[in-house]
Amino acid sequence: MTAYADFYQRSIAQPEAFWKEQAGLIEWFKQPEQICDYSNPPFANWYKGGTTNLCHNAVDRHLKDRANQPAVVFVSTETNTEKTYNFRQLHTEVQCMAAILQEMGVQKGDRVLIYMPMIAEALFAMLACARIGAIHSVVFGGFASGSLASRIDDAAPRVVITADAGSRAGKIVPYTPLLKEAVALAATKPESILIIDRGLSTIDLGALRAVDYTAARQKHLNSEVPCAHLDATDISYTLYTSGTTGKPKGVQRDTGGYAVALAASMKYIFDCKPGQVYFATSDIGWVVGHSYIVYGPLIAGMTTLFYEGTPVRGMDGSADGGIWWSLVEKYKVTHMFSAPTAIRVLKKQDPAYLTKYDLSSLQALFLAGEPVDEPTARWIAAGINKPVIDNYWQTETGWPILATANGGGLSGFKPQFGSPGVPMYGYKLKLVHESTGEELKGHGEKGVVVIEGPLPPGAMQTVWGDDARFVNTYWKSIPGQMVYSTFDWGIRDANGYFTILGRTDDVINVAGHRLGTREIEESIAAHPNVAEVAVVGVADQLKGQVAMAFAVAKDASKLGDANERLKLEGEIMKLVDGNLGAVARPSRVYFVTLLPKTRSGKLLRRAIQAICEGRDTGDLATLDDPAPLLQIKELVSVK
Ligand code: AMP
Repeated sequence: MTAYADFYQRSIAQPEAFWKEQAGLIEWFKQPEQICDYSNPPFANWYKGGTTNLCHNAVDRHLKDRANQPAVVFVSTETNTEKTYNFRQLHTEVQCMAAILQEMGVQKGDRVLIYMPMIAEALFAMLACARIGAIHSVVFGGFASGSLASRIDDAAPRVVITADAGSRAGKIVPYTPLLKEAVALAATKPESILIIDRGLSTIDLGALRAVDYTAARQKHLNSEVPCAHLDATDISYTLYTSGTTGKPKGVQRDTGGYAVALAASMKYIFDCKPGQVYFATSDIGWVVGHSYIVYGPLIAGMTTLFYEGTPVRGMDGSADGGIWWSLVEKYKVTHMFSAPTAIRVLKKQDPAYLTKYDLSSLQALFLAGEPVDEPTARWIAAGINKPVIDNYWQTETGWPILATANGGGLSGFKPQFGSPGVPMYGYKLKLVHESTGEELKGHGEKGVVVIEGPLPPGAMQTVWGDDARFVNTYWKSIPGQMVYSTFDWGIRDANGYFTILGRTDDVINVAGHRLGTREIEESIAAHPNVAEVAVVGVADQLKGQVAMAFAVAKDASKLGDANERLKLEGEIMKLVDGNLGAVARPSRVYFVTLLPKTRSGKLLRRAIQAICEGRDTGDLATLDDPAPLLQIKELVSVK
């Protein structure tokens, strides 16, 4: 047993030796010459001179010892499908997809945008890109044409891979009309579309050049496409995430550092072994999907359970709050990873579901994506009688910043309710004062969670196509020093455990989905009768937070009438649905005469949020004009 504190200390004091050792967890075509080149901070180049491939480590590497072991178990409660692919079959499918992409002209460094539901072909597509060195950019299937268009413009993909439709709780969501609209909106057009026809909806791509996957697969099924020998620093993917501006940021990740970071996290944080079964309930559109549905488990030689569906719907389409637990029993899941929101949904189900199935295979349940409220964590831990391990991280970091690592012979920090844990190896974490930048060394003092450079392997390299944005956004927000800001508030207790207290910026977290209030505002402001709008995140029992909008109408003459207000509110919600997707739809749109602002014109977001949550807003009397806040107070108090 190694004490975690010593392990951590070594990662900080001797990072080169530490990460050199971790590099041995993956296979290299050529060993790295330099562990970390940090000659141009804050840009870190990990494993310079080394060549490797994520797909090789996730697939080919395992053919020798586990070709017949299940690699992917695809389960869809939406289409009543269960299909298992062993590593050999996965190898075949991925090579086939890679050959199709090559025939479509995709080369190393080209972007491939993946706008897909949770079907196995989406995973094949990601691995196929990694195999040939194309950069994938997965866009969450729940996003609508506006979100998709801005990502197409930024990524400039040569090819888009999509399906005829997704399905959510039995409702078919046709993708092709959304994609067609997005391409029409985008200034940069993809050359062609690879389409997987599930037979759920008619395909409507207009004049776009489309390649049918079924036919192409038939042609390429026996293709052999070797893994490209990629530089460790070559880009593996970009993944868009929300920030404070309306324009989403493409978080750019490398190849070698990411592979090592994932392999290490599977060993030390998740305590996984080859042959075990990992079930992450997220979606490939999010970072958890990239790290812990696709790459992490496969790199570790595990089976990944790839799930399309909700937590409360069974295979035959009927309500079933025990579906996930039945899958744990059936597939002998050893590790489960979910989000607090999903657990809060399960909490509304009959608790008998938690004991109905044999969960003896399960080692632990990991939760991340948003703060886990203690009652929910305790409820699920007691219900399934397993350790519940909170972990805190971000799209930007790719793997946990805070957790409790008890795998790979480590020990010393047990999970504690109410805290995601302690800093993970490689992260030089500090709490600093928001405006002075002074380090807060005491216990229980609230500060901004920052990381000293270099960021560890696996973390973002930069913002795709915009190094200046990477530096200015993340590394310059704390006065007097160049440190990476997580934009989260945190406190630390006497034992070194952190608690995360929410974002310092305008990012909100709805059901584990990260959204920028600015993006929602821009979408609402496009309504012809909206002069100005403020969107804030408001605490919600089920979803963690929901978006609430306060709009000033250009023509308010009819808004005295409740029906007219409802009509306009409905129109605005529909607009957001169509532009960003239902995930971003505000739960309410209130109409106000003025928005509360400071004298310099800055929106008083924190005050609006406090009012909506029934908290103290500070002294209203100090404001030039307290009337707008008082109006909001009155509106939200009327249910
Ligand atoms: P995303 O990049 O979408 O994964 O969102 C990252 C943000 O989600 C973080 O900056 C936090 O605000 C929040 N978050 C993620 N995991 C946790 C957690 N375990 N506890 C508290 N907040 C979390």
